[in-house]
Amino acid sequence: MTCRFVLIVIMTLPALALAHPSCENGSVAIDAHFEGGRLDHCEFSADEVVELTFRAEDYRVSDAFAWFSFRVATDGPREVKIKLQFPDSYARFWPKLSTDGRNWIRAPEYGVERSEVGKSMTLTLDVDETGLWVSAQELLTSRYYDDWLVQLDGHFELETEIIGESVLGRPIHLASTRDKREAVLLLGRQHPVEVPGAIAMRTFVDVVMGNSDLAREFRERYMLVILPLINPDGVALGHARHNAGLTDLNRDWGPFTQPETQAVAALLEDLEARDVAPRLVLDFHATKMWPTMIFYTQTPDDDARPRRFSSRWLDSVDERIDNFEFKHDPRPPSGQGNVKNYFFKRYGIPAITYEMGDEVDRSAIIEHTPVFAEEMMRTMLEAP
Ligand SMILES: [Zn+2]
Repeated sequence: MTCRFVLIVIMTLPALALAHPSCENGSVAIDAHFEGGRLDHCEFSADEVVELTFRAEDYRVSDAFAWFSFRVATDGPREVKIKLQFPDSYARFWPKLSTDGRNWIRAPEYGVERSEVGKSMTLTLDVDETGLWVSAQELLTSRYYDDWLVQLDGHFELETEIIGESVLGRPIHLASTRDKREAVLLLGRQHPVEVPGAIAMRTFVDVVMGNSDLAREFRERYMLVILPLINPDGVALGHARHNAGLTDLNRDWGPFTQPETQAVAALLEDLEARDVAPRLVLDFHATKMWPTMIFYTQTPDDDARPRRFSSRWLDSVDERIDNFEFKHDPRPPSGQGNVKNYFFKRYGIPAITYEMGDEVDRSAIIEHTPVFAEEMMRTMLEAP
């Protein structure tokens, strides 16, 4: 028997390879057949609870965790109980809900019950014919980035271009201003689940590309090199951290075994050949380690130039922001092949991991990010 609501689900979701399982019991249907969808097993238990399983894409690493993103369809208004299980990882994210795949809210507290060891959680959801997306974080997939690229391309100072392709052939987009002798690089979404970092990056870019006197003075001096989405395959496939080559791209700076990091390495060569010197890199991420924000920076002893940039930047932010706690965590270089280590080692510049908390209030990101962007510009303009 084919139910009407199942047909609606199939017709309204974008056609993608149907790699994820789906299940239905005549009145409730679950699937993940959309970009960013993730579901590894799906079945109805005897007591009408839908049991879903999510596997980390690499369960060999000690801190593995899984993304989840699926859609619930029903034949009419009803309460649906869904148990999410993470056998080789844990429930890192608080569920986000959407009826249109664009606008999201946090699942209400009363509808989420987490198991004590964090291996599962049970959701009680009210669903009607409209259907409901349930996702670890908001789905910021190619549609979101395509919109953003149109916006960037519409800015009279920005050009967009494709600098390479991912493992599965998805474009790696660059937006940049005209060449200057000095450049500030903004990198986004190496890690697919780190959506709050992506939200912060977009606001940050808006401010830096904005019309204020400060932003215009900043762009007089510095070229902007903006890479919004470095891991498009990982985002589309619902990966936690990896690209389609099952590699953590933020461990591949130096080895350059993956086409995504190779594309950026080639861009750096190209900038050098054009006499453009990187002066600052901000690499946008998200973290479970701190509720609001962490900045992993060089230590004062590392002597990155401009000198003491990180402290001067973040101290001046601190003077302007109340009730939004962020942590400055300077760390000496390690052997890890991440952006922070690579750019510092190669250029001796501040290379900073800009981490938003997984569950930080999204309106607080929008509210406070402009201060971080403005003080970054002010501090960089003071650099000799
Ligand atoms: Zn990350």
